[in-house]
Amino acid sequence: MKILVVNSGSSSIKFKFFSMPEEKLLAGGSIERIGKEDARFRASVTSPPGEVTDVVAKIGDHREGLSKVIDWLLAKETELIDDIEEIEAVGHRVVHGAELFQAPTLIDSKVLRGLADCTALAPLHNPANILGIEVATGLLPKAPQVAIFDTAFHQSIPDFAYRYAVPESFYTDYKVRRYGFHGTSHSYVAKQAASYLDRPIDELNLITIHLGNGASMAAIKNGQSVDTTMGLTPLEGLIMGTRCGDLDPAIPFYMMEEAGFDTDQIDNLLNKSSGLKGVCGFNDMRDIETRASQGEAAPKLALNMFCYRVKKYIGAYAAALGRLDAVVFTAGIGENSATVRELCCENLGIFGLEIDAQKNIDVQAKICPIQKDTSTVKVFVIPTNEELEIAIQTLDLLNTKD
Ligand code: AMP
Repeated sequence: MKILVVNSGSSSIKFKFFSMPEEKLLAGGSIERIGKEDARFRASVTSPPGEVTDVVAKIGDHREGLSKVIDWLLAKETELIDDIEEIEAVGHRVVHGAELFQAPTLIDSKVLRGLADCTALAPLHNPANILGIEVATGLLPKAPQVAIFDTAFHQSIPDFAYRYAVPESFYTDYKVRRYGFHGTSHSYVAKQAASYLDRPIDELNLITIHLGNGASMAAIKNGQSVDTTMGLTPLEGLIMGTRCGDLDPAIPFYMMEEAGFDTDQIDNLLNKSSGLKGVCGFNDMRDIETRASQGEAAPKLALNMFCYRVKKYIGAYAAALGRLDAVVFTAGIGENSATVRELCCENLGIFGLEIDAQKNIDVQAKICPIQKDTSTVKVFVIPTNEELEIAIQTLDLLNTKD
């Protein structure tokens, strides 16, 4: 079965095209700056490597954008499909499913109304995801459309971990609770670790650490998420590229009083000018590492703050889990930065976790164990693949419906 995976943003569409169940990536690409004169459509055939397209031209809206993607998949040169019906299903990334959607969901008009109800919780993301679903449904009416939620994996978190200690009405009337994000990534790497260890996932206790531009961790007990660092929004938890992560909630009020910021400014400052960028002026870990190694104080501080926060949560989640089988590093920083992994795991011997310096440096783009032989906890670096996980979950859902 050929499955198209769509990640629709406010002015972009990213796609990947898989042959399943072989998990073979056939093609992928993106459209950026939708609505602008200089929109850019990039796509390439990956298996076998072939046609590459890179065109800058006006793309009026998401419908026109997705039409371009489908026309490209159908084009003779790509040699991917001859008929539109060969796109047998579409898996959509949806950021927020609130408590309404706890699993992959086949989309119909009722589900679309439910997605709209979740919009207040993700005003920047859900409307764009819904638009992508509507456009894909219009263009591919025969293909089942499936929603895969960033939040769904964390719906197993118990109430004492997802509730905030605020008046109950925040939760009952306004749905304020921890939801968590990056669920497809945490779920994918957890399953990869289980298959590498050749053990059933429901017997494993893991801490998965997704360190990219956005960053989050999950405590996974017997295969189920029991806590995660992101909260009502993706602002809470770890220090990120430009997001502050955990903060004394009084700081925004204090800064509003003292510096005269309004709510929009505070929102902007905490989401776009904080995190690594706020501390040292750079949000790319490569720049930070280079400058820290040259002895610059602010990048060194940013690096130490970033890793200390991760380390603190490893300790917290080890306590939450009781028994820890493995820790998994993933995403741009987690997969590529030996320095970050080393600092995050420093002095964790009390939990039985020790990484091997050489194995940590020798990591390649595949599942790599990096613990010392004496470490009772396994430590893995596992490349994440959120799009593949969306295709896998889409196929699983369609198989159960048959
Ligand atoms: P992601 O959001 O998962 O694509 O991760 C993007 C981030 O990964 C970038 O902003 C960089 O900070 C980081 N990154 C990518 N490659 C490296 C590398 N070789 N060393 C350190 N950080 C990296």
